[in-house]
Amino acid sequence: MGYRTIGSATVKAKPSVRRPIMDAGVRKEISDTRQRNACIRCRMQKLKCAPDPKNRHDRCLECSQAANSIYRQLPCLRYKIPDTPLFRHAMYNSPFYLDHPLLGDRYGDFHLQKTWVSSRTKTLSALHHGGLRLEVEVRQYLPPGEEDATDDRSMHGLAARPMYTIPWAVADADIETRNLGTVVDRYIESYVVNLLKPGDDLVWPVYQEALRLMPVVKTDIIHQSDLMLDTMRLWVGARLADRGWRCTGSDKLGAETLENQLRPPDWTPLPPYLDYQLVSIIMHRYLSPLRKKVLDRLQTIVRANKPSNWYAIFLTCFVLLHSCEMSIVIVRKHAAKRKSPDRYIIMNLVRALNTSAKVLLAHFHYCCKGNVPFSKSFDWSSPVMRRMAALDPEQSAFMSKYVSVVHEREDIFEAVRKTDHYEAPYWFVCQLFEENWEPRVTHEHSPTSDEAYISGSDHVVTEKGKTVQFGPYHRPDIEEDMSKRPNRGG
Ligand SMILES: [Zn+2]
Ligand SMILES: [Zn+2]
Repeated sequence: MGYRTIGSATVKAKPSVRRPIMDAGVRKEISDTRQRNACIRCRMQKLKCAPDPKNRHDRCLECSQAANSIYRQLPCLRYKIPDTPLFRHAMYNSPFYLDHPLLGDRYGDFHLQKTWVSSRTKTLSALHHGGLRLEVEVRQYLPPGEEDATDDRSMHGLAARPMYTIPWAVADADIETRNLGTVVDRYIESYVVNLLKPGDDLVWPVYQEALRLMPVVKTDIIHQSDLMLDTMRLWVGARLADRGWRCTGSDKLGAETLENQLRPPDWTPLPPYLDYQLVSIIMHRYLSPLRKKVLDRLQTIVRANKPSNWYAIFLTCFVLLHSCEMSIVIVRKHAAKRKSPDRYIIMNLVRALNTSAKVLLAHFHYCCKGNVPFSKSFDWSSPVMRRMAALDPEQSAFMSKYVSVVHEREDIFEAVRKTDHYEAPYWFVCQLFEENWEPRVTHEHSPTSDEAYISGSDHVVTEKGKTVQFGPYHRPDIEEDMSKRPNRGG
């Protein structure tokens, strides 16, 4: 151990840490892999993901060599589960929201300066589209004179109002975040019933399985029940971020005087600033940490590469993909309501949801280990199946029955596959059942609006003008207040 001199003092030098000498070529390879991400195959099989010099398509050496394998091949994809956006995390439709983003430490986390008028608070009842009700404690403040508080009045809807027109704000964001979590947990089951139609035998049974698995504690690396519970919480939260809230109760803080050309006359919107805060609580404080938990858990069980996890991975991917599908339906309705010439006016969100779907689908298909579990010939009682998925008798019975439901819809899937209407029912989830799945090429810019698919309807018109009917899908817009009926969620 040596000594070194600092100023006039001599101090003991830290022992030098010897690093193994690494070949410059190896160092470059590691750095390249870090920059590009290792591919899914190499990550799951814990292999070194080295580039294949002979391949012009960025396929890695392992994937190139595996191309000769007897198993069905998937492309070399460098997706990472934690990079999945999953839900709407920003508002793109007004200058105020652009200047005061919902996520982040400065605005989203309630750091907008406020001077309270007094300590007196009131309770505002906020009812969501799906029937979930929140009682929010609010407090009056002195409105700031910010120029940007007035939005572009040529726009319709909530964005056309001065942001501070009703100067009441959430009294305590931490309390409201906890309150939101409690309410969501209480109503998950009722919310699923309220928003999805039990008649759709492709969608409904999977949600029922997800709800059934929630309270079951498994002895695995990660409790699958925790993953299911958080996935269902995220599903509810994503719906809360997608759709508007309205005031109910006797004291609406004067919001009943606000006009909204896009809503029915008896719809009282939330005061604009409270609406901004509530959406921020949902997206920033509730959904963001939940998203991280769900994706970390999903990544852990995917990487564990165990047959005992396949069922939970399937259910989780289905629910998350269906959630993307439901969000895009709202984006499409948003454009249609405003008679936009573009099919989607929130293209950032459409791209984010398409990316999410590709990441989930790629990992799910890798977890099928070269099998085609939804093909007609797949035998759910064979030893091959057990290497892919270890199911209990109840789960086996479910899958055997479910596969026949999938087959009954082959024509619909085929029609949907050929469209670029992401809002068409099953556009995302049907890719779980595809043999030789590859990520679809999706639009970067919105195509023009056309009438080929009528948003929210039960049919799609194919390229050749053929009409394909879907089964019952989303329920019509229901505004039923769930607090008025017996609580099934516990
Ligand atoms: Zn690789
Ligand atoms: Zn690869």
